[in-house]
Amino acid sequence: MFTDVRSKKVIFVAHCILNQNSISDGTAVHPAAFKDIINLFLNNDIGIVQLPCPELCCLGLDRGNIYGADSPVTVENTRIRREMENSDTQQKLKILVDYTMLQIDEYVKHGFEIKGIIGANRSPNCGVESTSDNDVEIDGMGVFMTALHKEITSRGLNIRMTGIKGSDNFAEKLKDFI
Ligand code: SF4
Repeated sequence: MFTDVRSKKVIFVAHCILNQNSISDGTAVHPAAFKDIINLFLNNDIGIVQLPCPELCCLGLDRGNIYGADSPVTVENTRIRREMENSDTQQKLKILVDYTMLQIDEYVKHGFEIKGIIGANRSPNCGVESTSDNDVEIDGMGVFMTALHKEITSRGLNIRMTGIKGSDNFAEKLKDFI
């Protein structure tokens, strides 16, 4: 099975890396996407799986605050984090985690190589090395990545995770993921 030309290599990336239109108001750094990252993976024949955007799916495109862009990013991120932690939102988040795990499980079951998961540092949801809380950027994972990581480890899987930020040297940071 799957002996056609496909590479059997995939990488999961935060939704906004492929679609900046999803990101919270005032924080987009590209008109459409991080083209350098996309090209890096495509040039290495790695299929790109776009993770769901937890904030868009759980809180809406405006994150429930039409004045979000008026606040410092980490202040608005902290408000978003609190919204993500309430019980109604947690139920929605679980659906997104399950949807992602379904895909991971299928690729694992059929022997595909999952190169990793690329998140978005500083995000209250998709941060991997850093996130936002208490109005500052702190070490640690965002709400979505924490929940996803918990599911991955509960299955005994070991999938590498890292996060990027607009100012990163992507080629250097992601060289171990290609
Ligand atoms: S970092 Fe995550 S929650 Fe924020 S816009 Fe990107 S995909 Fe959505």
